[in-house]
Amino acid sequence: MLSLRYRIALTLLPQLALLAVLGGAGVFILHNLSQRIDRILRENYDSVLFMQHLDEALERIDSSFPFALAGRENEARKQYEVNWPIYEDNLRKEENNITLPGEGEAVRELRDLSNKYRAKAEGFYKRPPADAQRPNDYFGSDGEHGKADPNNEGLLGLFKRIKGVSGKILAINQTNMEQESKDARETARISVIGFGIGLGIATVLSVLLAWQTTRAILQPVREVTESALAIGRGNLDQVVPVQSHDEVGQLADAFNTMARQLRHYRQTDYSRLLRAQRTSQATIDSFPDPVLVIDLEDHVEMANPAAQRLLGVAGSEGTAAALAWRPPEALREPLRAAIQDQRPYLPEGFERVVSFTVEAREEAFLPRILPISDPYGNTLGAAVLLENVTRFRLLDQIKSDLVATVSHEVKTPLTSIRLALHFLLEETIGPLNPKQLEMLVDARDNAERLLGMVNRLLDLARLEGGQSPLDLKPEEPATLLLAAADTIRPRAEAKEVTVKVDVPPDLPPVSVDAGRFGHALNNLLDNALTYTDPGGQVTLTAAATGDTVTLTVADTGLGIPPEHLPHVFDKFFRIPGQSSETGTGLGLAIVREIVTSHGGTITCTSTVGAGTVFNIALPIWSNPTTAAATPNPGISPTPGGA
Ligand code: ADP
Repeated sequence: MLSLRYRIALTLLPQLALLAVLGGAGVFILHNLSQRIDRILRENYDSVLFMQHLDEALERIDSSFPFALAGRENEARKQYEVNWPIYEDNLRKEENNITLPGEGEAVRELRDLSNKYRAKAEGFYKRPPADAQRPNDYFGSDGEHGKADPNNEGLLGLFKRIKGVSGKILAINQTNMEQESKDARETARISVIGFGIGLGIATVLSVLLAWQTTRAILQPVREVTESALAIGRGNLDQVVPVQSHDEVGQLADAFNTMARQLRHYRQTDYSRLLRAQRTSQATIDSFPDPVLVIDLEDHVEMANPAAQRLLGVAGSEGTAAALAWRPPEALREPLRAAIQDQRPYLPEGFERVVSFTVEAREEAFLPRILPISDPYGNTLGAAVLLENVTRFRLLDQIKSDLVATVSHEVKTPLTSIRLALHFLLEETIGPLNPKQLEMLVDARDNAERLLGMVNRLLDLARLEGGQSPLDLKPEEPATLLLAAADTIRPRAEAKEVTVKVDVPPDLPPVSVDAGRFGHALNNLLDNALTYTDPGGQVTLTAAATGDTVTLTVADTGLGIPPEHLPHVFDKFFRIPGQSSETGTGLGLAIVREIVTSHGGTITCTSTVGAGTVFNIALPIWSNPTTAAATPNPGISPTPGGA
């Protein structure tokens, strides 16, 4: 196949050839016409001019004779001598310009007559001016019967005949000239028509050729363009037909190569994506706990078999549209927060578990919700992991029960041991020597501590079991805080720690079991005093926030290192190297149990070296029915749908 360049050249060549032919024809026609005109001029117009000049000279020569006869000899002679060479010259020229039929004979006749006329004229002027023969010479003499004698024809007669002949030559040439110019005009007309037709044909041919070439070039270009557009729309399987090996063919080839490369990229990208998707699916499938990923509209994008079994949901993999998941009531707010505020929900306590009925058994799941976002911070959805904590909760329950039972069983003998030690130390039974006294004091202190711990364990067990219902009443925050401060004041004064109560007036009453809550406040104040050095301060404040009142216990003590802060409310948790010797690690756990049983929340913030702040938010007293608020915090909400 020819290259595009050659194709364009080939289209232009015929047009060039046509142009050359037309140009040649034009030149030929013009040349032809100019030659004809030239010939007319040369052959006829010259002869006409010769004859006219000859005639003029003849007239002058002829008029010289009457002058001479009139006695003006000199002027007449001069006129004759001047004009004769002109006459002769034009006659000679005409003799050399015989071109037409009949012209030769006429010119020969003219020559004959001219010779005679010359001879006669020479004779006329040879005679003396007043010679009587001169008028005869001019006018001629009559022969017999008064007719003009042809042998003695006068100059005037010859003049008339010469004029006749020259007029004939003139006429021959003029007629021919007219004919020739008519012919030339006709030729020019035909030429113009032919030229016009040629030009028309050339134009039509050129247009046809140009159209054909343009089409031949544009068609493949259009095909390449269409294919490019299709590829742009994502149809990478589009193949541009390669119909030629010219430049357009090369373009199509390059296009196909590009599409192939794109297909290849897409395939590798696709398989990489597929692999990543399979890997993550396999990863979450291998989780024994239910895991699901939901998008912004709560549609399940991925769900492992455990989640599918438990929640009856399926991932959108392979299906056109995933079904929306209706999360259990307890998870709705955390899910909303995770998706809208990108806030993860990672509860630790069993009070946040969600229960589902699995094979007629109730199972407890601790939810973990993690927002999923792209690298630019846009939220894509959330991952929900439901950790099955049924066994842990059961073990915890068993442990609590065991601890409660043991504590209960230990408490009675321990009380009597303590009583016995008191009696012994009072020496009512008998005197003690110093060594015995020392040992018994030590034993009594240990018994006291043990009893304290047992009591706390029993408290906690009771709270967790929810056995003793709360006696909720409207209580003034100030009253609660002042009572707690009074309890701790003697110990504070002894340690030189200031206790300050600063409560604004007109705070709404809170819904509280004063006895139980006082216990919590005492625990907090006890800790504050324990971990604040002499000279420090413990401040009790309160503030209304929405439908809660926040009570604050702040100290200027040691502070809690940030890494331990999340665990201070855990059972038996004590900060290594910082806690007092006598503590059990149960105080704050009890405080939290008491607060949550009131439907409140407790948080702790602390700065090492500056102090610790505990905030307790309690519901405001509204009506007597609030008394029913979470009487049993250990029992988790059961979602309606499960
Ligand atoms: P304990 O019986 O040891 O006081 P708690 O549960 O009351 O047990 O407290 C847990 C730990 O938290 C304590 O051992 C102590 O290290 C730390 N802690 C509690 N309150 C404070 C406080 N106000 N300032 C500093 N550390 C504190």
